[in-house]
Order: sequence, then C-alpha cells, then structure tokens
Amino acid sequence: MKGLSIHLTDTCNNSCIFCVVDSHKDREELVKKEVIFKFLESNKDGGYEVVNIHGGEPCICPHFLEVLEKIKDLGYPNVSIQTNARALADKDFAKTTVELGVNLFVVSLHSNNEEVLDEICGVKEKCFNQVVEGIKNVKELGAKVRTNTVVCKQNYKKLKEIIEYNIKELKVDHINISAIHPTGKAYKNFYEVTPKLTDIVPYVKEAVDAAIKLNTFVTLEGFPPCILGDYSKHLINWEEIKYKLLYHNVILPNYDNFMEKQTRNQGKVCNNCIKNKKCGGVYKEYLEFYGWDEFEGIICCN
Ligand code: SF4
Repeated sequence: MKGLSIHLTDTCNNSCIFCVVDSHKDREELVKKEVIFKFLESNKDGGYEVVNIHGGEPCICPHFLEVLEKIKDLGYPNVSIQTNARALADKDFAKTTVELGVNLFVVSLHSNNEEVLDEICGVKEKCFNQVVEGIKNVKELGAKVRTNTVVCKQNYKKLKEIIEYNIKELKVDHINISAIHPTGKAYKNFYEVTPKLTDIVPYVKEAVDAAIKLNTFVTLEGFPPCILGDYSKHLINWEEIKYKLLYHNVILPNYDNFMEKQTRNQGKVCNNCIKNKKCGGVYKEYLEFYGWDEFEGIICCN
C-alpha cells in the first residue's frame, strides 16, 4: 500500500520532554498551506490509499480543517492523523474531523497517571482528561484509534498498566509501543528521559503479552530486533505501507528507507547478524551515549 505523509505544523499545545520535532506552542509556524495543497493535488492520481497528517499537533493548526476538506475533495480514500487528542475533547470538533474523513487517530498516550502525563507532556493544565475525552469522542463516532506509547524513564515500569488501561477503559483498536528516538528534545534531555533498552525490554514484553491476552493488535517500533528476541515478530512492518513524505518544502519519496539509512548505524556485531539486510541498526544518538555493549548479532534463527 502507498501513502502520503504530511508534516502539517511545527507547533504544538504540548511540549513533550522527548519530542523529536521540539514542538511547542511558542514555536514559529514555518509550514505553508500552499505547499501542502500543491503536494496533495500533484499526487491525487498516484494510487495513494491514505494521507497521514502529523506535526507538531495537527488539530491546533489554523488550516487543519481546510486541509482535510482538500483531501476529501481530491478523493483520497483514507486519512489518519497523529495527535495528542486534546483538541478532540470538544465533541463538535471531533465530529467535524471525522465527517471530513479522518478514520484513524494515532494518539500519543504515555501514561494513565495525570501527574506523570503532565510531566511527560510538559504542561501544567491536566491534559489527561482531555486525551481520554478525545479518544472516547472519536471512538463513539466510529473511527479507529491506535495509541502510541513512547517508553521513557518516567513510564517504563508501568507499561503493562498503561496498555491495559488503553484497552480496557478506552477500547483502543491497536497498541503501538515505541522506543525513544533520541533526537530533538530527547537528545537535549537524553539521560533524563532515555532508559537503556536492556532495562525496558522485560517491561515491553510484559505489556505485549497483556495486549495479546486482551485480544488487541500490538506492534513495536524503533527497537533493534536483536534486543527483542522472539518479540521481534511484533515489530511494525513498514514494508506494508510506503510513505512519500512532505516535510516543509522537502519531499522524501520513501520515508522509511530514509529513516533506516539516516537515523541508524550498524556496528561490528551486525556483520554476522541474520537481520542485517533489513535492520538499519541502532539510533545513532543512542549509541553516542550508551554504545554497543547491549547488542549481539542474531546468528541463528531457532
Ligand atoms: S543488524 Fe545489528 S542492530 Fe540490527 S538486529 Fe542485527 S545486531 Fe541488532
């Protein structure tokens, strides 16, 4: 499947302590609506089955609804947005968004504890209830919800509890668990936010087991396969969907290839690893701080 991916805005109503974009509400907006419209128009007959919108926070972007209208007018069949869901706590806004064609909401939700979520999101206004309301609103309207939980020092010991909450209380359709990509603010705050992968893997496995037990689709993202053992079969399969990305004025024809090549490094341990053709390695910035000691190539498949 082919999709378009659009970075709609640089700004955000959160200021997450590991934000890769370093988005926050005071950031100057640099993304031009005209460039986005042109990108959508020029690709309308390209067989793209989904348009994915992200930021920053797309829902607070002044031209968010206009962009959705444009996507609908051009006839793209599916729309997903990556959001913190806070703006969707407003029922009317959630309804308009769904009516304009958004059928998948990928919601960042990193804790089921109000104080911890506020700390991670860098806000003081108790955003947890807004996120919960936002998810409930779009679920009631028939849209699908995938939560994305980034594993950080602030939440990893509670990962199973968070995932169970998302499934039991919020009835989400898909759980995604991500390793931190230590760039942007995550790089600046590296030791404050980034746990060692070997420390979090037992908790990640426990959370995956919990999701499976509750019959919910679960995927992992950003973890090198060698650190996961058997659980690497849950890594999200980017071969299934190829995205062409618009980021400001730059178009990347294959976003995932770019990410694998530009953001990761392989080391000596990768030389004999049976996954080394498909795995790009470990995030460069992670290696800068923690090195290669945790990793060992996968030699055999049994
Ligand atoms: S290629 Fe390297 S980083 Fe990837 S799984 Fe193998 S050893 Fe790990």
